Amino acid sequence: MPDQAPSRCLLCQRNFYQPVRRDFDQGSYTFTCGSCREYVVSQEFLEDVGPTLEDSGLAPFLSAHVRQNYSPGNPVTISKSNWRVLAESHRHTSVNVNLDKLLRHIEASSPWPGAQVNCDLEVDWPVIDVPNKDSFAYFLAAAVELEYLHKNLPSYFILTTKGWEYLTAGGAAGIPGHAFVAMSYDQTLDEAYEQGIRAALEVDCGLTAIRVATRMCHLRKFATGSWLTFGGASSQ
Ligand SMILES: [Zn+2]
Repeated sequence: MPDQAPSRCLLCQRNFYQPVRRDFDQGSYTFTCGSCREYVVSQEFLEDVGPTLEDSGLAPFLSAHVRQNYSPGNPVTISKSNWRVLAESHRHTSVNVNLDKLLRHIEASSPWPGAQVNCDLEVDWPVIDVPNKDSFAYFLAAAVELEYLHKNLPSYFILTTKGWEYLTAGGAAGIPGHAFVAMSYDQTLDEAYEQGIRAALEVDCGLTAIRVATRMCHLRKFATGSWLTFGGASSQ
């Protein structure tokens, strides 16, 4: 650890909401950021990868991984051995899948149909797999143009009935060539997913693998698509 703790998020370069917390027993550091939420980095990652992370071009996709997999009390751990795999898994996401991720984020943030959801470009861009806020703005505008979202105020969006119909029908699950993997986002399964399941689906089968939290599967009945379930989830 450098003598002076960094004053900005290691991933998105935002100012910290809370000071870095050091765990001397684990040799790790916990960062809390408004955009990325919370994540843990190993000392080795901080010292060896941290100084060149921004130049690698992968930092925004690590932000995306951390934010999308955030679970209170169970933050993603980034190490020297897994950081590149985690980032790459969010780097080549298709337009359709990113649109799907955006609508599911709005759905998950809507306490009831018709609720307004704040999408702050500066803060919320890592909820989908994009490199910056401008790309996030593009997807929000596209969702409005496709009439999946209604823009009510400068940064507030409402899922339209067409948007709800899209999600109820399975959304991007109906896209040929995509395999949705329903499994827990428990980070102990990250390596098994990235290096085992995803590699097998994409390299051996030529499919695009998309990992979806199991809780989503229990909440929604998917009409179409290829589903693989792990970690105790049941097939839909
Ligand atoms: Zn951040």
